[in-house]
Amino acid sequence: MRFPLALTVKIARHIIKHKLARTPKFAMVLQLEPLHTCNLTCTGCGRIREYSTSLKDMVPLEQCLGAAAECDAPMVSICGGEPLIYPKIEELIQGLRDQGRIIYVCTNGVFMRKKMRDYMAAHYSPEMETKLAQLVKDELVSEKEAEQIRKSDEAAKKKVVIKPTKWMYWNVHVDGLEYTHDLIVEREGVFKECIAAIKMAKVLGYQVATNTTVYKETEVQEIEDMFKFLSHLNVDGHTISPGYDYDAAKKDMVARRGFDPKEFFLTRELTRQKFKDIEKWGEMFTIFGTPVYQEFLAGKRELTCTAWAIPTYNVKGWKAPCYLMTDGHYPKYQEMLGTVNWEKYGVVDGVARDPRCENCMVHCGYDPSGALSNKPRDTWINMKYNFGSKPAPYAEGYKVKAFNGVSIGKGHLAEAKAAVNKEMSGAKSAFARGGNDIVPDTAGGGCGTGDSSQRDDLLKKIEAAKDK
Ligand code: SF4
Ligand code: SF4
Repeated sequence: MRFPLALTVKIARHIIKHKLARTPKFAMVLQLEPLHTCNLTCTGCGRIREYSTSLKDMVPLEQCLGAAAECDAPMVSICGGEPLIYPKIEELIQGLRDQGRIIYVCTNGVFMRKKMRDYMAAHYSPEMETKLAQLVKDELVSEKEAEQIRKSDEAAKKKVVIKPTKWMYWNVHVDGLEYTHDLIVEREGVFKECIAAIKMAKVLGYQVATNTTVYKETEVQEIEDMFKFLSHLNVDGHTISPGYDYDAAKKDMVARRGFDPKEFFLTRELTRQKFKDIEKWGEMFTIFGTPVYQEFLAGKRELTCTAWAIPTYNVKGWKAPCYLMTDGHYPKYQEMLGTVNWEKYGVVDGVARDPRCENCMVHCGYDPSGALSNKPRDTWINMKYNFGSKPAPYAEGYKVKAFNGVSIGKGHLAEAKAAVNKEMSGAKSAFARGGNDIVPDTAGGGCGTGDSSQRDDLLKKIEAAKDK
């Protein structure tokens, strides 16, 4: 099976319960943003502008758990910001487990190894030595760290930690191979750390997924190579979604100056070109997301947006209408469901009800549409896909030259900084924010799609610098 049986049954029960009760709208996945602070400053991060005033704000633990109970989604995706910065992340995961939910911890991977060492220290016993020895041999844990794990004190043993369980996935943000990924997250070495964290997690028995956003400049071949590489590391599944800009200013430029939209953002047509192989990928790799949504991405069908099924909860409340757009925040999920005019959003028969939705095909709007479809044929292909055998790890994935950036001396920051300083001196690039510390309250975080205009500009400048 592509997704573990117990988890599939839980989700299926939830859908059947609501269909029998004829509930018109209900939550499938809660996108929980306990904070918007991040240790990285990715240029395309959609949360940087939107929540720039609330970075120090956090949703209290009880409120996070209350939001999950209120919408009762069987799955909770803890995102942000970087959720591993949230001071009560362990208690949050434990609390959600106590509620019986499936949990995805959407992380940039930088703090994962630290959290897993905490787990090892809390649960150390001589039986753990084999795994510890392997981690040291593979240079995923240093000798010094191994000693600290062995000599963990009472405080370390009592700590609430993130334990491996089939009900939780690390969901690691990987947007390409080393050069591309480090470029997008704007720090060399992040890809290497993600891969080390994924390897360590697999040794310790965690479930690991990855999430990838495909941008206008993303090379399709690189995405396939990335899947091959991740698959040979025994990654359990992959989420992939098109990046999407709905920046009104860009639309205005198109309208007033007659520019081709393709120059600016991922249109539906471009998305379909990028995702033309998704069904093949779904056979080769464990792609999470329904085959109905894959057909939609590949341009074989239309779907209607069901953004209410993947609601977002953050420091301001329930965000409407969706993860991407904010027309308001509501204190209660049911209030949001009842107040928002959902008929105003999405694309129906090729016509956008809201101009900002025109090119959107993101998973948080359309993946649940695939899962909730009432058509018998859709139910059948969804079941067949999920109950079908899980693709084997890609045996030749080790051949992929994944470390094609800073690891082989081909770092990008010096080159990019030079390009930025020379040609973008007035632009406010995230490179200028720089630094390794947690970002100050002028910048925020939120993995996922958003305005990528800064990154688009930057990539063009880097390309120009390379050509000289
Ligand atoms: S179509 Fe996209 S942007 Fe529009 S409401 Fe749905 S998810 Fe949001
Ligand atoms: S996309 Fe945003 S939240 Fe995610 S790692 Fe980058 S800066 Fe942090």
